[in-house]
Amino acid sequence: MKKEYYEVLGVSKTATKDEIKKAYRKLALQFHPDKNPDNKDAEEHFKEVNEAYEVLSNDDKRRRYDQFGHAGVGSSASSGGGGQYGGGADINDIFSAFNDMFTGGRRGGSPFGFEEAFGGGGSRRGRTQGGIPGTDLKIRLKLTLEEIAKGVEKTLKIKKQVSCKECNGSGSKSGATENCQTCQGSGEVRQVSKTMFGQFVNVAPCPTCGGEGRVIKDRCPSCYGEGIKLGEVTVKVTVPSGVENGNYLTLRGQGNAGPRGGTAGDLIVVLEEIPHELFSRKGNDVVYTLAVSFPDLVLGTKVEVPTLDGAVKLTIPSSTQPETMLRIPGHGIGHLKGSGRGDQYVKVNVYVPKDISHQDKELLREMQKSSGLSPSAHNDKDAKSFFEKARDIFS
Ligand SMILES: [Zn+2]
Ligand SMILES: [Zn+2]
Repeated sequence: MKKEYYEVLGVSKTATKDEIKKAYRKLALQFHPDKNPDNKDAEEHFKEVNEAYEVLSNDDKRRRYDQFGHAGVGSSASSGGGGQYGGGADINDIFSAFNDMFTGGRRGGSPFGFEEAFGGGGSRRGRTQGGIPGTDLKIRLKLTLEEIAKGVEKTLKIKKQVSCKECNGSGSKSGATENCQTCQGSGEVRQVSKTMFGQFVNVAPCPTCGGEGRVIKDRCPSCYGEGIKLGEVTVKVTVPSGVENGNYLTLRGQGNAGPRGGTAGDLIVVLEEIPHELFSRKGNDVVYTLAVSFPDLVLGTKVEVPTLDGAVKLTIPSSTQPETMLRIPGHGIGHLKGSGRGDQYVKVNVYVPKDISHQDKELLREMQKSSGLSPSAHNDKDAKSFFEKARDIFS
């Protein structure tokens, strides 16, 4: 249930150390216990703000957090860092992504309304030291019930913006930049608007340099100065068992590359369950409907039924009533958290043929004559009580 540290401080993922420090000071002051005596909410916020600052103000911790989320800076995390590419599908990453998911996935927004509260002063999105942040990329991943039951590793080919190799993502052939003429290097432009309430000065990121303050001198011909190009990459995704339709995994830094060396966005993999032709899913259990002949229901039999793990032998006990649910333990869906799997239920139905041979017809006529196979003639408790009830009602 942990909140994103960047969101806690109300800063962008590419915020500089100074920006983080500024945001922290403001919030720490606002939520300080001295200023908010006996205010539990403020105390909670104060703690969160301090924790977020502790991580984001430390280069090493911040790098690990960016790569692995909360799991990367927890007490159990090693300082190993992990692989560069494809390492995003690390199981820690996935579970931190799931935490995001369960808290409602408040991505890209400001959960506390910090930006509103501070009039936009808390965060300066887009204004970064190195380029413009890349955008998040969303893709759908279809999974069979078999894959969901046990978890699966998928290799995906993804078309996305990648860093230009010719210019190392800088957008410049020689790497040289010059001051932006539009904003004189400040990265900001001021617009004065007049309203009936008076004059307002609006500060916005410079449209020419995107708030960077500098523009490239000689554009890279390969990427037209953007530093990014459309490319195709292979990404490995580890999907744990027990996921459901609409769940998603966030692979940090595997989205679109940022123009001119900006940090890459995230890759969001939205999971989709392909409906199974034999089984219907009920949470972690699956249900299979089996049609059995009337003689088999009465006398009992042994059958083979399909499961997510192949065919399994099942005993239909004698006198099995239609709609009975027989359980095959452990052949359902693996739990998302913890070990073990759900069960398979076999719903037993009577098979009623539509077309039968003359011979079978004769056989059934014989059965029809037998009073022991008819409920009204049968001296059974349910039948009796039904007639007794009917008599009570109408007398
Ligand atoms: Zn280039
Ligand atoms: Zn500019």
